[in-house]
Amino acid sequence: MKLLTFRGGIHPPSYKEKTKDCRIKRIPIPDFLYIYLSQHTGTPSSPIIEKGVEVKIGQKIATLGGKLSSALHSPVNGVYEGIVTHPHPLGGRKEAMKIRVLKEKDKPFEVTLREDVTSLSKEELIEIIKESGIVGMGGAAFPTYYKLQIPPGNKIKDLIINGVECEPFLTSDYRVMMEYSEEVIKGIDILRRIIEPENVWVAIEDNKLDAFRRLEDAASKFPWIKFALLKTKYPQGSEKQLISAITKREVPEGGLPFSVGAYVQNVGTVFAIYEAVYLGKPLFERVVTVTGSIRHPSNFLTPIGTPLEHLIEVAEGPIGEIAKVINGGPLMGITQATLKTCVTKGTTGILVQSERELKKMEPTPCIRCGACVLVCPMRLLPTELYKYIEKEKWDRVEDLGVLSCMECGSCSYVCPAKIPLTQEIKIAKNKLIKKESK
Ligand code: SF4
Ligand code: SF4
Repeated sequence: MKLLTFRGGIHPPSYKEKTKDCRIKRIPIPDFLYIYLSQHTGTPSSPIIEKGVEVKIGQKIATLGGKLSSALHSPVNGVYEGIVTHPHPLGGRKEAMKIRVLKEKDKPFEVTLREDVTSLSKEELIEIIKESGIVGMGGAAFPTYYKLQIPPGNKIKDLIINGVECEPFLTSDYRVMMEYSEEVIKGIDILRRIIEPENVWVAIEDNKLDAFRRLEDAASKFPWIKFALLKTKYPQGSEKQLISAITKREVPEGGLPFSVGAYVQNVGTVFAIYEAVYLGKPLFERVVTVTGSIRHPSNFLTPIGTPLEHLIEVAEGPIGEIAKVINGGPLMGITQATLKTCVTKGTTGILVQSERELKKMEPTPCIRCGACVLVCPMRLLPTELYKYIEKEKWDRVEDLGVLSCMECGSCSYVCPAKIPLTQEIKIAKNKLIKKESK
């Protein structure tokens, strides 16, 4: 099979061997959960229960706060202690629903098997997905029901199921594909019925051949599913790069995949869709890879709202002093200011790094080697961007296309001068966006 790929990109070590064979395990529940009202793209969720009430596992506790928003569900049997402000993974403090866990009442969610899935209409399927609070689980957390409302006149040619997981260290999607291959295929069938694409692709990198084969076997009764094997390269899993590798069509700057007839959905999201439609289970827990300098790295089925400090304790604590904890992978993840931050629907993994591991990253002047330009998948000139960001020449920075930077981290990764290019570009993007919205 021919390996597909895109232009640019990097080949960082994968470090996936630490957790790739770790089966998904349910964690012991913490004493308290903090479920952020804002953990998805769009308007914060709006609570629908009163302080002090007892909640049941799977119960809806917040509804959509606007047109683009998401519902929230309790991951445990517990008592709702009201809204608090709590440290958020994106920085600062945000409103969260605090739930005291009733450990004596801990029991699994009771699924309700749905027999009539094939008779459900598109609209009914989208409504189930909306009511189940499903958002993109690859990290973006975009509400799925909204993404499924394809604007009229935009026929989807290629539905692509993203099983790439190109970020080093992370293996949560890989484990879902290995352990729930049949369920993932059923989830893909639901998406196919809603979107009605010409082609359905499952895309996986060639460092996950066992997952590739397992899904191929599970899809034996679904001959319309095509499989695309991709070269292992970062950021192969980003929407635009994936669409380019498979369809050879380029999403224009500022455009959406619809504009080139493509629709991408992460494999974890597809599994959540299966659970919602077939089992009546809303999205209140997810698989999180806990890895790095930790005694017992693994893939944990984690209630949404679990504090990171609890997850690190479940993984038997750090090896040595913790220097840094990242929510996500090392390239696109976000460094956490405190371990009080909690797991959200978009948390793919937690990476713990020790003092010993972190090499001294003091930047030196640019040597004009051009390495950052060669790897940029968006064909930007990171070195030039950095030069004008330093001089605060914002018009020039904008002309150089800073807003199309996807913050993949490739330029920083290859820079021999250790210049924090991505970080500076991210800050510049935020400044420009704020300036433009005034
Ligand atoms: S400029 Fe942006 S898109 Fe290009 S390599 Fe750097 S982080 Fe990635
Ligand atoms: S990779 Fe670093 S040193 Fe090389 S041109 Fe880019 S910014 Fe300069």
